[in-house]
Amino acid sequence: MKITKHIADIRQQRSAEAHLSWGLVPTMGYLHEGHLSLIQRAKQENERVGVSIFVNPTQFNDANDLSSYPQDLERDLALLKATRADLVWIPDANSVYPKNFQTYVTVENITSALEGAARSGHFRGVATIVAKLFNVFQPQRAYFGQKDAQQVAVIRQMVRDLNFNLNVVVCPTIREADGLAMSSRNAKLSPAARKDAICLYEALNAAKTAIHSGERSGPRLRERMQSVIQPVEAAKIDYVSAANPQTLEEWEKIEGDVLLSLAVFVGGIRLIDNMLIELN
Ligand code: AMP
Repeated sequence: MKITKHIADIRQQRSAEAHLSWGLVPTMGYLHEGHLSLIQRAKQENERVGVSIFVNPTQFNDANDLSSYPQDLERDLALLKATRADLVWIPDANSVYPKNFQTYVTVENITSALEGAARSGHFRGVATIVAKLFNVFQPQRAYFGQKDAQQVAVIRQMVRDLNFNLNVVVCPTIREADGLAMSSRNAKLSPAARKDAICLYEALNAAKTAIHSGERSGPRLRERMQSVIQPVEAAKIDYVSAANPQTLEEWEKIEGDVLLSLAVFVGGIRLIDNMLIELN
């Protein structure tokens, strides 16, 4: 496994092995089984797998959130070695965004809802770093988690709109035994908040059960999710959503597939989760 912070090293290995197929797994580190599932899938489908570890400052709209983002590089590298990643890029922020950097990628309509509405500028940062990663690694396939459903939609849109020559592969959300979606941010939960955090999964499940029992009212589905979370004292809802997975517009009356999603502060830590309910 080669580890580098230099773009030139990535380009050199990529072009020396241009005849091989490459998969890319972008991460912000503090790796867990969710990340590893993406790498394993990439290993199955490609001859070489590149992984990036970069806590991308441009996608954070809260300086505190950025500075407190969990990091443990030594542990990450041991996990990457065990999953047999081939090439790991761990750049400095200054080399990714050098002085006088002034080009950003803005994906329009689908970034206006949900995470985009709650975290101003977030997807501009995501699209920009992912475009840069695509240019540096030039992978045939890039792997992303369904955990960040809107991120997947934004990247797919960008790939279509800017003609990136690669396939976006979406991998299922990996959960803890009790259903909590794995996330690097879970490490920041106090023991009490960790127990309360299960309310996100419970709320999604309640709405899913309602859909399967015939509920087709968007407002009532959103109320159903709220009713599970509101009694949890340490939980504060940022948003709950029952939306069209293509457009991310909120359903009034469900007329197709539904992306149930939510963002909730639990003990002050912001968590997100979602479920895609396919009705067609
Ligand atoms: P992050 O390090 O949080 O930016 O995540 C890097 C990639 O891992 C993104 O594509 C995420 O969607 C994906 N990911 C994060 N958590 C999970 C999870 N629990 N299951 C599957 N994929 C995940």
